[in-house]
Amino acid sequence: MKFQTFDNRDKMYKRVALVNLTELKDMPQMKIGCGKFCGLPFDCLMTDVMSGCLASNKVCYGNCTAAEFWKKKGYDFGKRVLNKFDKEFFIKCVKNLPNGQLWLRQGWISDCSFSQESWKLIAEISSLLNSFKIRLLIITKIHYTPKKSTLVELAKNNVEIRVSLSALDTEKEYKNRLKFLNMYRDLGGLSIPYIMSSKYKNEELNKNQLVLVNYVIENDFIAGEHPLRFDKGNEIIKDLEECGFSHTKFPNQYWFGRLFYNIPNFILPPPTHLKENYFLPTCYFSHLDMEHKIVGLDGNLPTFEQLSKDSTQKTEGLMKHAEYVIQKY
Ligand code: SF4
Repeated sequence: MKFQTFDNRDKMYKRVALVNLTELKDMPQMKIGCGKFCGLPFDCLMTDVMSGCLASNKVCYGNCTAAEFWKKKGYDFGKRVLNKFDKEFFIKCVKNLPNGQLWLRQGWISDCSFSQESWKLIAEISSLLNSFKIRLLIITKIHYTPKKSTLVELAKNNVEIRVSLSALDTEKEYKNRLKFLNMYRDLGGLSIPYIMSSKYKNEELNKNQLVLVNYVIENDFIAGEHPLRFDKGNEIIKDLEECGFSHTKFPNQYWFGRLFYNIPNFILPPPTHLKENYFLPTCYFSHLDMEHKIVGLDGNLPTFEQLSKDSTQKTEGLMKHAEYVIQKY
């Protein structure tokens, strides 16, 4: 079975292509900090090293909450800028984190992988955090692959890199992202496939998703799953099963919850379900045993089965996840 670019992929972008980008401003440059001390809503967060990501009419899956947020504020999400790093200020923020905070998520409303410069800055920050025994967790789509020396630095500092993969990716993106996962793991890095899942009616998309899941199992990866949530105006909805749900917090979004909960490799929840003491000892599934345990997991997103019984799922897990929205800027 082979992963192939979905023939009708462009339909995802029909709705967002209507944006007039010329009326939008460049993204604002922000000062990089971390935790509540610098105004972020959570102590496990640091500011994105870049402001902005893909242009509003090219965002992933035709759906991106961050791009939508900035567009409403009059900014073009695609006019990216590297944020300001002031080492002294950053250290002050780190020193103001609660004592037990042992990991930080790199950003939350962008992707850090757009240039050698952004990767180098992350490597520098990861080294600084390592000196405070804090690990960095990155979620990325690998728009640009860093140099080997940068990857070595990231691996040395125990940076966990989750690479988002989905059935809707192009064949080129799929190959590039798997290549990265293997390259980083071979250098000693914590490489995690992060499958953005959905229940597809379309056979081509179903096949792609199966290729991704099988790849995780056959290559001994520890993985995470994040259910995609599609805007109800997104034309791709026609290629999804009809048994999905409206999200409790975002009623205009359609989703299915987690699907791979019976596959042991898919053990990692999203960052919202990680405790302060989260620790990932390895990225090889077969290496997990009594001595090499993942510490600090705190539940997970609801499964398809749970949502089928109660689509409002007022479990703490879901509400906690729903709180994780862009709050201020
Ligand atoms: S990489 Fe993330 S932030 Fe960038 S467009 Fe895609 S979903 Fe949005």
